[in-house]
Amino acid sequence: MRIEFDRDTCTGMFQCTAEWAAFEENRDDGKADLQDSEEVEEDLFVREVPEDAEFDAKMAARVCPVDAIRVYDDDGEQLIP
Ligand code: SF4
Repeated sequence: MRIEFDRDTCTGMFQCTAEWAAFEENRDDGKADLQDSEEVEEDLFVREVPEDAEFDAKMAARVCPVDAIRVYDDDGEQLIP
């Protein structure tokens, strides 16, 4: 499973940080940070999700009020949102 984080869209409400520890609050920027991610385009961060974190990653994507977090399965199909 792969997760994409659109940091430009993120409005820093920090619901995601309560769901998956890989999302951290960055209060200086008013944005979340996604640990261990790679910036593939400007402000677009991607990383693999370990199997034991799949539930938490999906929850983080579900609670984001601005859909800044997207989750894809291994076939590239978008699961959430
Ligand atoms: S829930 Fe969405 S808007 Fe809020 S900090 Fe996380 S990614 Fe940003």
